[in-house]
Amino acid sequence: MRESRTFLICPKCKNPKSLYTNGAAWWCDCDWVGEKSAVDTREFQVETLTLTAIDWHIIDELVYDFYGHSDDKFKLPHFEMVPHGEWCNDSSHRFNVEPKVGRYAKKDAEKFRKDGKPRNLCNADVMNILCEDGWLAPGEYIVEVCW
Ligand SMILES: [Zn+2]
Repeated sequence: MRESRTFLICPKCKNPKSLYTNGAAWWCDCDWVGEKSAVDTREFQVETLTLTAIDWHIIDELVYDFYGHSDDKFKLPHFEMVPHGEWCNDSSHRFNVEPKVGRYAKKDAEKFRKDGKPRNLCNADVMNILCEDGWLAPGEYIVEVCW
């Protein structure tokens, strides 16, 4: 679903909506912890993005449906985004998706298309493969983890 949202941006990982505060400090899923001065002045970049918000399992389902499980008699998923990215519950992850796989990912991308196993591909690579193959439109995405 396309929508506009305003986010606090983590100074380290640049992820939106990933900052937490208890009033004395700020922290992020990436292990960044805010200085006391950052708490006092709220020195965070704020960004308004038009993006597509999707639930965490949508990408898993696309991969499962379109990337090679015909030779697997147990039909188990070969790729799951949340454990692959070591994501926690109630986190959000931003991707600028383009129809282009990085040159160092090309070999693993070809294998991924055959068997759905990510090998050294990161979640961003997988999103770009889905885009290159026409399953995802290019643009800003936020993948929301909540179960
Ligand atoms: Zn962070």
